[in-house]
Amino acid sequence: MCGIIGMISRDDVIKPLALGMLAQQHRGKESAGVALLNSGREMVIFRKMGFVNELFQEYDLMGGKYDTHAAIGHIRYGTTGNSTIKNAHPIYGKCKFGRIAIVHNGNITNLASLQARCNESHTLINQTETDTEIILHLIARSQETTLDKALIDAVRQLEGAFSFLLLSKHALYAVRDQREFRGLVIGCTESSYVFASETVAIDAAGATFVREVAAGEIIKIGLVNLEAETIMLWGMDTPPLARCAFELVYLQSPASTRTNTRSEDIYSVRQRFGMKLAECFLDKYYNRIRQDLFVPLPDMVIPVPDSGNQAALGFANMSKIPFEPCLIRDHYSSRTFLSPKQKHREYGVRTKFHPSPHLLAGKRIIIVDDSLVRGTTLRWVVSELLKKQCFVKEVHVCIAAPPIRHPCFYGVDMKSYDELIAAQKKEAEICDFIGADSLTYLPVESFKKILGDSYCMACFNGDYPVQV
Ligand code: SF4
Repeated sequence: MCGIIGMISRDDVIKPLALGMLAQQHRGKESAGVALLNSGREMVIFRKMGFVNELFQEYDLMGGKYDTHAAIGHIRYGTTGNSTIKNAHPIYGKCKFGRIAIVHNGNITNLASLQARCNESHTLINQTETDTEIILHLIARSQETTLDKALIDAVRQLEGAFSFLLLSKHALYAVRDQREFRGLVIGCTESSYVFASETVAIDAAGATFVREVAAGEIIKIGLVNLEAETIMLWGMDTPPLARCAFELVYLQSPASTRTNTRSEDIYSVRQRFGMKLAECFLDKYYNRIRQDLFVPLPDMVIPVPDSGNQAALGFANMSKIPFEPCLIRDHYSSRTFLSPKQKHREYGVRTKFHPSPHLLAGKRIIIVDDSLVRGTTLRWVVSELLKKQCFVKEVHVCIAAPPIRHPCFYGVDMKSYDELIAAQKKEAEICDFIGADSLTYLPVESFKKILGDSYCMACFNGDYPVQV
């Protein structure tokens, strides 16, 4: 996960950068950090464990102390390395090209072989436990004589998922891997360029969305004249795209846009997942009716907020079962899946949801969630909250994505088969575990049909686009 943003402008960039970072807070909450060039063009780094607003408050970044025209920012949810300040981005260093700082989203899958290669010539001394640091080592060790060429040399050696921004004293660079695993979009105003993981950050920064950074593209914006240069590293010779499908299911803001057009936002995609899911649920329901089983239609469709909202709305519209968002999310506690430790997750679930008992008592309900990773949230919501506390008669769980059966090696924190409930249990066992009366997933074929061909679906179908 993680969110990145970078801005270069004739005007001060701190406020729009802060707004863009806040708009991407949903991508991680472990740490936040900024690298900026001050009025003397010296690079200054600020990093803090916690949220974006805490970073800006702690260092009084909005107080007008820094007249900065170029900066990069990062919101971290770590997938390589522990949750400590030394692993917070920006990762930075000084080399023959001066001071450089980098913010990265993704996972470099050939990290071990790159580290071994570096160790052949000199012992590699790492300052952090991140995979990102190897990019700085590769740049510093390159035989090339300019930063532009050393960056190209470094990127050609990387494999896996990487969208990153690099800031030097002279330029801002935006880089995206050959398969477009993680998002990276460009926006502009009359006097600035903005790069971000999602379009919602471009909007929040007050810029206009232009396009995505393409597969295998490096874009450089020079600090003096804001001149843009672009390099296609592999020309047209790139492998099939493998954009992360889980970004659409869960990670991205529903206010963001799906592709390099404004034609479809994440909100609408999730509604379509919900509509198809409703068809699957109703198929099962009418099958039972055909078998002469008396099965009353459920009374209401309830989303697991917030990431289940749009799918539940699509479900309700398609099924004509009333939409009733009566499981209230406490917005002052955090996203459960984004808590790295399991005990924190369980505690998070207990403080996160509050149902409306008078609406729920004696009802048959369908509860719609975006995905089922570990099962922690739904188990507690279904068995403890809805059935035991609110006396709900029946709970039918519907998941607006296929079962997640395989780990992710490209930058989402689903690292092992052990932690994935669908890798450990059959559907009927999962249904029992969460205490539901029925469980319906969106079938993988329907999911693929909605997404199209340019997506990685490895955690759903085991078909890994890059071997690890
Ligand atoms: S394996 Fe899943 S989570 Fe990882 S990049 Fe592919 S679709 Fe996204």
